[in-house]
Amino acid sequence: MPERLAIDGGTPVRRRLLPYSHQQIDIRDIAAVVEVLRSEWLTTGPAVESYEKRFAEFVGAKHAVAVSSGTAALHAAAFTAGIGPGDDVVTSPITFAATANCVLYCGGRPVFADIQPDTGNFDPAALECFIAPQTKAILAVDFAGQPADHEEIRDLAARRGLTVIEDAAHALGAQYKSRKVGALARMTAFSTHPVKPITTGEGGVITTDEDALAQRLRAFRNHGICRDATARAREGDWFYEMNELGFNYRLPDILCAIGKSQLEKAETWRERRAAIAAHYDEALSNIPAIAPLTQHSDRVSAWHLYVIQLRLERLRVDRKNVFRALRAEGIGVNVHYIPVYWHPYYQELGYKRGQCPIAEAFYERALTLPLWAGMTDEDANDVITAVNKVITAYRSDH
Ligand SMILES: *Cc1c(COP(=O)(O)O)cnc(C)c1O
Repeated sequence: MPERLAIDGGTPVRRRLLPYSHQQIDIRDIAAVVEVLRSEWLTTGPAVESYEKRFAEFVGAKHAVAVSSGTAALHAAAFTAGIGPGDDVVTSPITFAATANCVLYCGGRPVFADIQPDTGNFDPAALECFIAPQTKAILAVDFAGQPADHEEIRDLAARRGLTVIEDAAHALGAQYKSRKVGALARMTAFSTHPVKPITTGEGGVITTDEDALAQRLRAFRNHGICRDATARAREGDWFYEMNELGFNYRLPDILCAIGKSQLEKAETWRERRAAIAAHYDEALSNIPAIAPLTQHSDRVSAWHLYVIQLRLERLRVDRKNVFRALRAEGIGVNVHYIPVYWHPYYQELGYKRGQCPIAEAFYERALTLPLWAGMTDEDANDVITAVNKVITAYRSDH
């Protein structure tokens, strides 16, 4: 007889819910903030440049531009790539809505291309049929922290004259064929929301190797304003010009200081998440109703998320029941992601259900298990115990 589940009145594996992700803040982060608070500058002072320099070094890019969120980073990248009315941008449906929203902000149209069922990333073989004469860019997502097939994407983009933007909100510290994410696409957008690999509370970064793009990105985050030294010498020191319709997307010094301090720990944290993921892989490999995502050997994942696919044909319940049962056991499982075009806003724009069947099937089976650097071995073992307990109870041969 399987053990009685907490959802049916049994004893939960944990009393307190283990969240699926959680930030790590230490005394060095706190000291870095206090130092800025005691200084002359609260925003757009020396901490911005210092964070950007360190971030660029970390990913191996020439420039890093800090902005107020990952969404702002994507918006700045789409704007700077020249996306406008009449332009299509091909992107993934298995992502957070912000990935596609940034195209809409610019007046462009997101086109959703289907994914690979075992990684959640773009299917490079299917990508080309979504490209039309009006396509201007490919916006690739590194789902769960594993880089997409960037070589195939880059070759296709070169052949069709497209810009590649990468949504690397999950992928800080990831590598593709020994190259760090951040130095692969023309522009790469990161997020530093608290659930992401490092945090600044809210925040984002765009990396690029191109000087001209970096300059435009910096102007865009500050209302599109340029402060040209020659013009100031000619006109007077108050002089500035607004050349493009930018936004206030600045990231204050207070937050840049946390970001720089967090970066020092990013690789250690990534290794810790990778170790927990390896432990999950091994422990879950003998549960036939579960399949972890495929990891390619030429890539290093940032392990932002540990996503499994439920083999529903081996279960007598659907994902919703498994989800509820695990929550009742004290395991903060989550689901990444509802296909973007299923959201009512996108449905009203005319996107149809059924257009990316693999992504939709992926969503119906997807479940995210807790994974973050501050988890203890005991926490990870609780997850494994609870998954075993719930799957055993719901196996279709009982
Ligand atoms: C978190 C996230 C974003 C948005 O980042 P914010 O910092 O929350 O604005 C965009 N894309 C993906 C894939 C994300 O996970």
